[in-house]
Amino acid sequence: MNNRRVRVRFAPSPTGPLHIGGVRTALYNYLFAKQHGGDLIFRLEDTDSNRFVEGAEEYILESFKWLGIKFDEGVSFGGEYGPYRQSERRDIYKKYVKILLDSGKAYIAFDTPEELDKKRAEIENFQYDASTRLMMRNSLSMPAEEVQALIESGHKYVVRFKIEPGEKVLVNDIIRGAVTIDSSILDDKVLYKSADELPTYHLANIVDDHLMEVSHVIRGEEWLPSAPLHVLLYRAFGWEDTMPQFAHLSLLLKPEGNGKLSKRDGDRLGFPVFPLEWKDPATGAISSGYREADYLPEAVINFLALLGWNPGDDTEMMDIEELIRKFDLTHCSKAGARFDYKKMIWFNHEYIIKKDDSAIAELFAPIVKANGVEVDIEKLTKIVSLMKGRVNFVHELWDASNFYFIAPQAYDEKTVKKRWKEDSATKMGELAELLASLEDFSIENQEARVKEWIESKGYSLGEIMNAFRLTLVGEGKGPQMFDISGILGKEETIARMKRAIEVLG
Ligand code: GLU
Repeated sequence: MNNRRVRVRFAPSPTGPLHIGGVRTALYNYLFAKQHGGDLIFRLEDTDSNRFVEGAEEYILESFKWLGIKFDEGVSFGGEYGPYRQSERRDIYKKYVKILLDSGKAYIAFDTPEELDKKRAEIENFQYDASTRLMMRNSLSMPAEEVQALIESGHKYVVRFKIEPGEKVLVNDIIRGAVTIDSSILDDKVLYKSADELPTYHLANIVDDHLMEVSHVIRGEEWLPSAPLHVLLYRAFGWEDTMPQFAHLSLLLKPEGNGKLSKRDGDRLGFPVFPLEWKDPATGAISSGYREADYLPEAVINFLALLGWNPGDDTEMMDIEELIRKFDLTHCSKAGARFDYKKMIWFNHEYIIKKDDSAIAELFAPIVKANGVEVDIEKLTKIVSLMKGRVNFVHELWDASNFYFIAPQAYDEKTVKKRWKEDSATKMGELAELLASLEDFSIENQEARVKEWIESKGYSLGEIMNAFRLTLVGEGKGPQMFDISGILGKEETIARMKRAIEVLG
């Protein structure tokens, strides 16, 4: 068991967009697989046709592509253990249902939904199990000929797992430790439905994990209650020796920490809970996504990695390679993880700073273009390097730096009142003349020569710089002055100064 190859799977059901909790589950599987040089499988659990949603599969795959989570095999990736879409594995499941039936570990039941409802009304806390199954219509309570005749005449039936009461079931979870329960509390779960010739989640999940040689099942806490049943299924098939190890991740909690994170929290507080924007095919309603909200995938990954896991110290910024190296299931917390979306914004800010200026410029370029400005990428990269520390999102760079591209149309009144003195026009005229005379318009040379001039004239540095800023930017914001004039270039700088002198007088 210990020298078994690590093989893990992410196994979503295509019932809608991938929730951010599902993304974290996939990420942890990915980190674990990569750390151990193992395989990550993408399996689609689509046996519940009632819940199938058009486009969900494509959406999920697209999300992982954007996030950079790569699968080694599975739907759309191929591999030796396919097909990986459960709806294409009917014959396989039928074979395993038959094995359980033949060995007496499962039985056929004909009870209609109405009959089941009636029993529930009759018997308090009714559960289909060892104490009630002989009162029901199934192959344990009916003569074999009758069962055969019903099947042959096309009656719909289900196959139920025959759970023996009074057995100890040990669930050993890497995160939660060992828990033993008594099988008597479990009901005879439906494993297969003749109506659509498909297994239920439980049977398909166990058969596939076995056949695909899955070594570890890392999944959300909501699946923890199913774990004892799964252990019993492994036992029934005689697969206990290769049963995967379980790790059930903690819940994601509301930003306030009380209760489970839901889409409504995102709507209420203004953050997405899906990786990509999703349009509901039935209602046309749009839910926002991290990609469209302008998050960098690296930031989302780093943030999610720390929701329920920590590296044992307070390191926060970790790229994917470092996460792969450090990730440890035994360091995952049992307690729920508060979804601190403000922290995610902080991560985005930090990743903008960390990422190369040229890469950010590539992301910023289409925004500049959409604002009707043509600019070369080299100049844009310089602007980005000066401005990116001031924003949380790439699109915010436009508001922060549009003065580089567009000369001021007006001058901010308050700033004018404060910074434009009676003699400002004269002084700016002198400064424009000085700058125009410079052959070397580099930032360093401008700075040296302007300071010399200010000193020789006995002017105040603050006064000159504030007026200078007003002429170039139109208000009081922006980086260091010569960083602005340096990027604008001599011609544009002088033109803006002249216009300001004219307008402000
Ligand atoms: N199909 C289940 C889901 O949608 C898979 C649960 C598991 O990983 O076993 O999450």
